[in-house]
Amino acid sequence: MKNKALAICADLYGCPNRCLHCWLGHMPNRDMGPGADEWIVEQFKPYFDEIEFYSWLREPDFCPDYRARWERDKALSVGCAPQRFELASFWRLARDPDYVNFLKEVSVRRVQLTFFGLEPMTDKYVGRKGAFRELLVATELLLDHGILPRWQLFLNEENRDEAAQIPALAEKLELPCRCRELGEDFKLFVHAGSCEGENRRHYPIRIRKGHIPETLLPYFLNYAENRTEAELCALWRDETAPYVPHNGERIVLYVSNDYDLYFNFTHLRPEWRIGNLKRDPIGELVRRVTEEDTPALRAARAVSLGELIRRYGDPASDRLFEPEDYRAYLLNRYLEG
Ligand code: SF4
Repeated sequence: MKNKALAICADLYGCPNRCLHCWLGHMPNRDMGPGADEWIVEQFKPYFDEIEFYSWLREPDFCPDYRARWERDKALSVGCAPQRFELASFWRLARDPDYVNFLKEVSVRRVQLTFFGLEPMTDKYVGRKGAFRELLVATELLLDHGILPRWQLFLNEENRDEAAQIPALAEKLELPCRCRELGEDFKLFVHAGSCEGENRRHYPIRIRKGHIPETLLPYFLNYAENRTEAELCALWRDETAPYVPHNGERIVLYVSNDYDLYFNFTHLRPEWRIGNLKRDPIGELVRRVTEEDTPALRAARAVSLGELIRRYGDPASDRLFEPEDYRAYLLNRYLEG
């Protein structure tokens, strides 16, 4: 009997950005070699009935022949088709006039664009000069072609003054009105992001509860469910159950450009590696995947959430977290040793 559905995201082309908050973690762009895409899918075919294949893990469409690439991703997928989601490359939108036509062809209705404030902070956090201006160019291009932009804004203590000005910028660009002309509301959402990957370094400047600018409160994602670190420490101090991430109906696997295999639970750090596709037998890798039997998950099962709080929680901290993000932060502290 074969296993439940699988999605494979392989880092075939890398990413033009080096975002300071990148939850996957920074890694070099590296060519995976000829035929890597087909070889990867062939490894899993005997074990899964349905395989969605994605040739990107970081930036979608970050290869010059993105049309042919999309067709190839569809052809390599087994028993199902890959999805477009609401993602695109703003790097490419700002450079390639035909790319927006491709997005229309593949029926992309909305595209998410990520800001960190105005020009200084956005350029700093994306890791490239010009990123902010590219995001504005991308916004205009999308609207001109009937595609809705959705602005995502990451907030911390360092960028909050600039971030507070983003709703006014959206008004100045008449985004609410222009989106309504396309039949939908303009969407802006603000959050602090998870505390893993590169964003793990921002724990010291994580936004404090009383410091969210008033202009951003209406846009703060799941604000009612967010808690301060102190509140979560009090809530979970005596929790005896462990926190163990778990696959849903569909297993999602990340393949790094050196063929390491990861779940999509958290960042791509050595402690989360399932194994290596070139070095480990595929049967054993699939067993680890389907039985969720990896050193990180075994370690997670062996420690209670209360113990993690007692070891790593700061009961005096008013840093703001979504509960799930804080659990992942605590577990990663533990796994880092
Ligand atoms: S957050 Fe996305 S765009 Fe930024 S560096 Fe990471 S993968 Fe690239």
